Amino acid sequence: MIFKQVFDQKSSTYTYLIASSEGREALIIDPVLENVDSYIKLLSELNLKLVKVIDTHIHADHVTAAAKLKDITQCSTIMGEHTPAETVEIKVKDDEYINLDNLKIRAMYTPGHTSDSYSFLMDNYLFSGDTLLINGTGRTDFQNGNAKDAYNSIFNKLLKLPEDTLLYPAHDYKGEKVSTIGKEKKFNPRLQVSSVDEYIDIMSNLNLKKPVEIDTNVSKNIKLGA
Ligand code: FE
Repeated sequence: MIFKQVFDQKSSTYTYLIASSEGREALIIDPVLENVDSYIKLLSELNLKLVKVIDTHIHADHVTAAAKLKDITQCSTIMGEHTPAETVEIKVKDDEYINLDNLKIRAMYTPGHTSDSYSFLMDNYLFSGDTLLINGTGRTDFQNGNAKDAYNSIFNKLLKLPEDTLLYPAHDYKGEKVSTIGKEKKFNPRLQVSSVDEYIDIMSNLNLKKPVEIDTNVSKNIKLGA
């Protein structure tokens, strides 16, 4: 298995490239439009063929490169079935598997940050989008976000995975690159709650600013950045 984590400075987004070392097929999770050239360069350096691109959800803070990568490489675009993006070719359901040569990636419906948020699990690598972050959780105050759904997705799905599962989120603002489910259970301040109501209370009182370009980003991302 080939695995690369790529960071976008402007939006603090992590993009992930996964590939099979045998068949050389590659998949990219949460690509950022401005970084297309660097992905194409990386694919060619590693002698990989991009076959699939996934967005974990409709992002508010950057524009996806999904449509552009499809134009260049003819890869398929994938999102969860709850996505409002009509041009997505493959809409996966909760618990459905995505194949990449001999690799299998399980789609997990984890709404809450947005109503269309999915996480993706490959072996013990969890790509959690903005559902679960390192020492944090995705905000729930726009794009049909819902703190109760987020609590359920986190506590009843993601935290049920084995403690040594590696957590690779879609963002980090403090330079953290990876965590584990076990570490987050113990140390993530948002997860030290004793009830769903306590979690809802925390999430309702974050008083975060609206992301600067949310409206243009969302309307572009509904077209996969085309
Ligand atoms: Fe997000």
